Amino acid sequence: MPLEIVPFPHPALRWKSKPVIKVDADLERVVAEMFDLMYAAKGIGLAANQVALPYRLFILNLAGDAAEKSEELVFINPRFLRRKGTVEGEEGCLSFPGLYAQVLRSSKVAIEAFNLKGECFEYALDELAARAVQHESDHLDGVLFIDRMVEQDRLDKKGVVADFEAQYRRWQAEGRYPSDEEARRQLTELEQK
Ligand code: ZN
Repeated sequence: MPLEIVPFPHPALRWKSKPVIKVDADLERVVAEMFDLMYAAKGIGLAANQVALPYRLFILNLAGDAAEKSEELVFINPRFLRRKGTVEGEEGCLSFPGLYAQVLRSSKVAIEAFNLKGECFEYALDELAARAVQHESDHLDGVLFIDRMVEQDRLDKKGVVADFEAQYRRWQAEGRYPSDEEARRQLTELEQK
């Protein structure tokens, strides 16, 4: 089955994902498909949870441009080593098309992760890159930017978030997405792989 970006509130978006145990050709194919989906949706980052896969993995291309291959980064089993400062900034999310809100994040972070070659790497990041890795790492724990919006946006965007939920329930009723119970069963099954 081809992957697709699932909208809120698909249960995958509230899933605490398991570490990747094997970096192999299957995983490479998944990552390639995730990049295609991310570019098609005009995003700069995408986490495995957003394509209904319960693995600790996310991708970034801060240029948001498929032609800029050198900007492509894959973070497998990421872990923050250090965080410093706090900064507010605007975020969007491919699981909430069209929704933007102000979110507080650490201003500087150091993060380590594995790449597709199975090598461990470490980055010290700030500005957009720091914000993006915090947003994407949150996805792997089932945490969403709507959980971290500043108070004013939390109030202002309540209706929009409710609309996403209502639309998703209609799609479920039409059979476009599985029931929450079935989706959770599929996620549990994928975890065993
Ligand atoms: Zn997101």
